[in-house]
Parts: sequence; structure tokens; C-alpha cells
Amino acid sequence: MSPGLHHVDVIVVGGGPAGCIVANTIAQRTDKSVLLLEAGVDRDPNALVVDDPTISPDLFVAQSSPAHVTTQRITNHRNPSPYLRGQGIGGSATINGLLCLPGLPSDYDAWAKAGCDGYSWDDLSPVFTQLGRSMRTTTAATWGAVDRMLVGATGLLDIGAWQEIGTARCVMAIDETGRRVVNTPTLRENLSVRTHTTVQSLLVDDKRVVHGVRLDDGTEIESVHTFLCTGAFASPAILLRSGIQRPGIGRNLHDHVGITLDLTIDNPTPLTHATMPFGTAVSNVVHHAEDWVQVNASSEKDHVTAHEVRRIPSSSLTIQVLPLNRLGLTDGLQHRGALMATPLEATHTQGDVTIDADGTPTITMPNDRDERDSEALRRAAVALANIGSQFDADVRPAIPNICTELSAMNDHELDDWIDEHPGSYFHAAGTCRMGAATDEQAVVDPHCAVIGYSGLSVVDASIIPRLPTAGPYLPVMAIATLAAERFVNCLST
Ligand SMILES: Cc1cc2nc3c(=O)[nH]c(=O)nc-3n(C[C@H](O)[C@H](O)[C@H](O)COP(=O)(O)OP(=O)(O)OC[C@H]3O[C@@H](n4cnc5c(N)ncnc54)[C@H](O)[C@@H]3O)c2cc1C
Repeated sequence: MSPGLHHVDVIVVGGGPAGCIVANTIAQRTDKSVLLLEAGVDRDPNALVVDDPTISPDLFVAQSSPAHVTTQRITNHRNPSPYLRGQGIGGSATINGLLCLPGLPSDYDAWAKAGCDGYSWDDLSPVFTQLGRSMRTTTAATWGAVDRMLVGATGLLDIGAWQEIGTARCVMAIDETGRRVVNTPTLRENLSVRTHTTVQSLLVDDKRVVHGVRLDDGTEIESVHTFLCTGAFASPAILLRSGIQRPGIGRNLHDHVGITLDLTIDNPTPLTHATMPFGTAVSNVVHHAEDWVQVNASSEKDHVTAHEVRRIPSSSLTIQVLPLNRLGLTDGLQHRGALMATPLEATHTQGDVTIDADGTPTITMPNDRDERDSEALRRAAVALANIGSQFDADVRPAIPNICTELSAMNDHELDDWIDEHPGSYFHAAGTCRMGAATDEQAVVDPHCAVIGYSGLSVVDASIIPRLPTAGPYLPVMAIATLAAERFVNCLST
């Protein structure tokens, strides 16, 4: 900690996954002085036990730490439940589901084609592989009742990799002892960290050069370069409060939106250190909806293989079915589980982040869903009905016959059911999207530099142009790795 520091080479704002990677890389690879500013708390270096919220892999244990959870109000959102964000060193990764999937090659090739040079699959896949070395797949010993039922109903593919169709062991950011792995700053002489420090705005001169940041208590800290890594809601808000002028700031807010089928569990897996998050381990079922129907219709037809997955046409819809082995930590919630089905398609329904007169952000999602999203959710509901009907007496839908009823519903009835059974993944992205420097709506160029300004970059989930067929956690880490390496390389040329 260096509370008195008022001038550094590089300021990194936000200690989430992106901010920690950027700060660590620049500090390790250069002699530049780096200051990481984080609004929330520090990590507790003494946390040793797995049921400690700061290191537990269990989503619900992690979210029991009030210091790490903040909620956002979404205006006009169809789903009225609070939108969770993590805060403190580690950011949303301190409370997230830890699932690490890279997505599909076509996701990133589309980014590159849309002007994000250097972010094609060929560019990113070595980084995914490198990051994946420190991750682990779940084992059967850590599964809960819903995992086991799901594996029983769908079969388990013997592929520990990460982009397959079928039920697979999840790849998660956990260590060999099952603890939550979170990016943290590695302290060194040229890297300082200040937690409980909220950045209000940037110091920008009339030549559009950014000279540092202003904290919420009015303190100014100067820098040669500033990286904004405060996530999909705070990054556009800080840019707007600073008067940065790009028409795309705050636009293109999109997410993965799913639905939930409630389950009753007669014999829940006891909550112990040996069990894993989402209740226990998450089996990751990624299904092409039509394939799923065929598999159920003909169980001998074992065409769900890794080989086939990679040949699925890019126009097909991928639905991820996530088994929740419990819905929380209290005794009552141990007997309640769920299947969440989420089309791993970026939503076409887009919202935005704006600020009001005093700089407070407003996050808005339109009430009316894009028809393509409605259709994807209907297919997810049918996939849920198909899977739910396979479950046995021990793990069964909380409403008897709901699977039969869902299968018989018309679109209008399905839409109503979907609205009443939301399932949020908290994958907000896209509000400072990357694109070519000539792209009017792009906020950052492929170097992550804010277009039209100098001394300022944004590196976090906000620059994702369109969510890949995966959660943003691993992609954000990969983008941050590449962006920081490229920044360092530019310094040395
Ligand atoms: C409950 C939940 C479950 C999730 N599960 C998964 C999952 O299983 N798999 C997956 O792929 N993704 C998941 N995600 C999404 C994933 O965690 C995020 O996309 C990812 O953490 C984004 O990283 P980031 O660095 O962009 O931002 P964040 O992780 O949000 O970090 C931003 C940091 O900036 C700090 N900050 C904000 N404003 C300021 C300010 N003004 N000054 C200083 N600091 C500030 C915040 O406190 C925070 O620490 C989940 C998210 C949540 C909330």
C-alpha cells in the first residue's frame, strides 16, 4: 500500500480478473511503476479453509461474504432479481461460478472479421491453453445428486476438454485442493495496490490526453497511462463521467439469459469440503437443442461425440444446462435444486448504461425481448422438459408433470412460463466494445486504446464485442493477457 502515491507510470483501475492480469504483466515485464486501485476489499491472505467465503469454490458460500457482493438495479429488466457483481481484489471472480470455457473458434473469428485484429481463434487459443493449465475439471467424487442424475440421463463424454456437446466435467478455476483460484496482484517493488479506493473519473486535458484519475474524495493521482478495468457497468460510467466522447460508450449491453426448472431432491449431497460449487460440481451440458431431442428419441444412436460437436454448423443453437445441486446454504434449500438452461448465444436484446446529471449510472434493458432471444429460450425450455422427464423419484421436478406440460405448451404459454422462471448468468458485456478505429460505434481499438484519446485503455468484459459461446471469465482473462503483452511490447519498440 502506498497511500501517498500521487504520480506513477501506469494506473490500473479495478482489481477484477482483467485488472490483476494487466497490473501483474506490466509490473513483471517492465520497470514502470504500476498502481492498482480497487474500490472494494483486499484478499485475506490467511484464508485457509474451504468454507471460508473468500476461497470456497461454492458459489453460495462465496456470496455469503457481504464485502464481496454488490448488486445493481437494472431498469426495465424482465427479471426483477438483483444483478450481482463481485467487488474487491478478484472482482466478480470472488463470487462467480468459476466455470471456464473458451467458446468456439467461430466466435473469435467473427470478432476479428468485425475489426478486432489480433483476437481471432488462432490468436487466442494458445492463451486459452496456457490459462487452462492452472484449471481443473471436476471429478465424480465432488458431484451432487443433480449432477449424477444428469450424467445418468445423458451419458458422460470421456473428454475433459472444454467445448464439447454432451455432459462433461466442468473446467473450473480451482486448485488441487478445491479452493477458488482468483487473480490477485503479485506485490513487487514497482507494483502498489490501494483497496477501498474508488475512482470517480479520469483527468483528461483539452487535447484528449488522459493524465490520471480523480478519486471519489477528490484526490488526483497522475499517470502516463491509465487502464480502466472496472467491468461492464462501471467502465462506461467512468468514461461518461469523464466526458470521453465516443457514441458507443454504454451501448451494446448484452448477456446470456436463461431459465430455471426447480427440482426437489430427497437425498441431497451433504455440504462438505469434498463437495463442489453450485451445490457440488457442475456438469456442463452443452447441447445443440435438436441433437438433444434426437438423443432422447434414440438412446442407441450415440452421435454426441467430441468429433461431431466440432462439426456442428455455426448457425445451430447451443444450450448449456447447468445442474444446481442446491439453491443455497440453509437446510431447506439443500432439498431444492434446479436445472438452468441458457442459450449460450449472446442476447440480441440490447440494453445500455447511461449516467444521470450527478453521474450515477443507470443500467437499462428493454422490456420487450428480441424475437430471436424468445425463440432461443423456448428451445431451452423444451430441452429442459426433455431432460427433466428423465429424472427419477429422488431428483424430480418440483411441480409434478411440468415437463409434460412444457412439451405441450404453445409459444405464448411458453413465453409466460419463461418469464416466471428466469435464470441469470451475470455475464454482462459489450458496453465499450472493441472494433476498428474507423468503426463509429467502437470505443476501443484492437490495442484496447480508447479511440481518439491517448494515455487511456479499457480492458475488461466491457470491450467484448459479442459474447462468445461461453461465459466471459476465461475470455476476459485471455483478452487481458494479450492486451497487456501487446502494451509491453509496444513500450519496448
Ligand atoms: C454471480 C456470478 C457468477 C458468474 N459465473 C461465471 C462463470 O461461472 N463463468 C464465467 O465465465 N463467468 C461468470 N461470471 C462472469 C465473470 O465473473 C465476469 O464476466 C468477470 O469477472 C468480468 O471480469 P472484469 O475484470 O471485466 O470485471 P469484474 O470482475 O466485475 O471486476 C471489476 C472490478 O472493478 C472494481 N471497480 C468497479 N468500479 C470501480 C471504481 N470506480 N474504482 C475502483 N474499482 C472499481 C470492482 O470492485 C471489481 O473488483 C459470473 C459473474 C457473477 C457476478
